[in-house]
Parts: sequence; C-alpha cells; structure tokens
Amino acid sequence: MYDMILLKQGEIVLKGLNKKAFEQKLMANVQRRLRPFGPFRVYTIQSTVYVEPQSEAADMDGAFEALKSVFGVVSLTRAAACAKDADAIAQKAMEYLAPAMRAAKSFKVESRRSDKRFPMTSIQLSQYVGGLLAEAFPDTRVDVHHPELTVELEVRDLAAYVHSDPCPGAGGMPVGSNGTAVTLLSGGIDSPVSSWMIAKRGVRLIPVHFYSFPYTGVAAKEKVEALTRELSAWCGHLRLCVVPFTHIQEEIRDKCPEEYFTILMRRFMMRIADRIARDNRCGALVTGENLGQVASQTMQAMAVTEEVCTLPVLRPLIGFDKEEIIRLARRIGTFETSILPYEDCCTVFTPRHPELRPSVEKAREAEAALDVEALVEEAVMGTEYGKL
Ligand code: ATP
Ligand code: MG
Repeated sequence: MYDMILLKQGEIVLKGLNKKAFEQKLMANVQRRLRPFGPFRVYTIQSTVYVEPQSEAADMDGAFEALKSVFGVVSLTRAAACAKDADAIAQKAMEYLAPAMRAAKSFKVESRRSDKRFPMTSIQLSQYVGGLLAEAFPDTRVDVHHPELTVELEVRDLAAYVHSDPCPGAGGMPVGSNGTAVTLLSGGIDSPVSSWMIAKRGVRLIPVHFYSFPYTGVAAKEKVEALTRELSAWCGHLRLCVVPFTHIQEEIRDKCPEEYFTILMRRFMMRIADRIARDNRCGALVTGENLGQVASQTMQAMAVTEEVCTLPVLRPLIGFDKEEIIRLARRIGTFETSILPYEDCCTVFTPRHPELRPSVEKAREAEAALDVEALVEEAVMGTEYGKL
C-alpha cells in the first residue's frame, strides 16, 4: 500500500473531442518526467491523473517536485494511503493532515468511493471522519459551505486515500499538444522566459542560438546550454541548435551602413530561424522581444525584421515590464544563469547611432551589398545540433 500523487488537468478538460489525445500527451509527458524516480503507474479517471508508485524504490518526494513543472497540470496533491476501514481512514487523516487542521479555522470532509462494497456511503464516511476530526482538533469548526480546508477521502480498489487542498501545478497545456516552434534563445533574461511561455501553451520548442565565435567566447555558448537544460525541466528534452553567425556579422560590418547593423543582423537571425523552423515542420518563431525596450524593438524595427519571415513571429513578452519578466525568470529558475556576465553577439557590433525609424526599403538597400542567400545557406549548413 503506497501513497500516490493526484494531478488535476487544466484546460484539457475543455477540449471536447480532442480530449483523449491531450490526455495521452499529458500522460506520456508525466511518464517521461517520472523516469528518474523509479517505477510508477500512470492513468487517468475523470480528468484526474493518478500516479501510483510500483515499489518501495520509487522516490515520491522527487516525483512530486518534478511533476510541479509539467504543463497541463493545474494542481497536484500527495495522497496518503491506509486500510479501507473508517477508523483507519480517520486515524490517517488525523496524522497526515494535522498541520493543515491546526492551521485552518474551518474544514469539511468530502468522500468518494470507487469501491462500492465499502460499508458506508460517501456521506456517512464524511460525517464519521468529520466528527472524529472535529473532536481531535477542537479549534477548527466544520463549515460545509466556505471551509478553509477540504479534507478529501477516496476509497479505491487497493486502499483508501487521504489528501487535502492541492498545491498549484504549472498550468498551461501538455507540451506537444499545440505543435512545434523555433525559439530564438540568447543568453539574456528575456528569451528563456518567452520560450517558457510558449512551451506552456503546449508547444514543443527547438531552441536556436546565434554564436559569434571568437567575438563571443565558449562561455557564452555554455551559458545558453545551461539555460536550455534549465528550460528542459519544464519543456522536456530540448535540442539546442547553434548557428555560426560570425561571418554574417563581419560581412554586415564591412559592407553595410553602420546605423543598420543591428537591424540587418536581426533580419539574418529571423531568416535563418525561419529556414530551420520550416526544415523541422514548425509553425512559428518565438522571440523575447518587448515593445520599446531597445532601438531594435520599436514597432518599425519589428516590422522590418519580421518582413523576412514566412512563419508567424510570437512575442509573448511584448507588453511586459522588465520587473514582470524578472519575476518570471526567477520563478522558472533561469534568472541566475541569465545574469552571469557574457557578451551577446548583438553587443559585439553595436552601432553608435542605431536607426530608430528603419524602413524595409532602406534595409533592403543596405543588404544589396551582401549575398544574402549564400550567407543564410552557409549558416544553416554550419549549424550544430545538440544531443537528441
Ligand atoms: P534577451 O534577454 O532575450 O537577450 P534582449 O532584451 O537582450 O533579449 P535583444 O538582444 O534585442 O533583446 O534580442 C531580442 C530577441 O532576439 C531575444 O529575446 C532573442 O529571442 C533573440 N536573440 C538575440 N540574440 C540572440 C542570439 N545570439 N541567439 C538567438 N537569439 C537571439
Ligand atoms: Mg539579448
């Protein structure tokens, strides 16, 4: 008889006909996430995913922590197992929920029976256990309408389970249920957060990093690899693509007007990302751009950079304040890595006076000196793919 973990599904519940497919994605993602923690059985009944350890070797604490970052789960609870006997259930509730019962001013008990041979009805069981809990914790009163704490009892095939208010899950939709996108991942604060936000909507990600060796050193690449690993805790395994960007930047520096350096560089990034995205059947590109943050993130500049794309460009941080982005970066665990010192390729050839109102025509003119197709091809061909 083992404790188990219950996961409440989020928006999947609304998905009507697609529900089965969504559920299967979620269960597969849960299974994969549980792999390092031992043998578990995973199944779904009525929008709840049940995670049952299959042996003593299963690490329940580790599993519970890991499941907090699975998208598609709105809340999760650890349920304590006991014998299918009303007194054993009451005893278990008193022990297991003692801290919560002491903290709450009011409570109620709710029961469910999937084993209909259990000698009490759900209501009788709730009343019985509720009465014993009220005696054991005299400072808490029963309130069936607005309780601070809800004690949940479940009588199932193998055992009975006791649990209480769940803790919040990652929310969103199961990764893989909403297609695939390329995310442009720099070593900064913003792009790991924008990647996370789109993964949360159920999108599988392919991170792409533009690397300007030797202008940006190996440390810069390792930083992006570290961010990719940190994102993997939420998004599942990610395969980082590292695009050699030095030649393109040198060409722009040598042949184009300085005030267009940044814009042209960004157009190349978007072209290459778009090409990698189409080669991998992706439906969109994701960036960490944020309106007005820097000269290259004005509306005009975004119009000029996205003009070279065939796929939609998703910018989930567009309306965020820096404070909000930082708060999210801390929550998802990428902030500390993002603030490590490094040089981004964008900062290598920064124009003294960037064009604040760039136009597509002028950008095209400025690019006329370059063999755009050949440069894109060379970068795509030189791209290194991380481990599958
Ligand atoms: P970030 O914190 O994500 O680096 P930022 O505020 O520094 O963003 P920019 O440097 O202008 O903004 O970059 C805007 C977006 O372009 C980034 O969020 C990222 O999506 C993409 N980007 C910038 N540099 C790179 C790079 N070297 N490799 C991949 N993507 C990049
Ligand atoms: Mg940056």
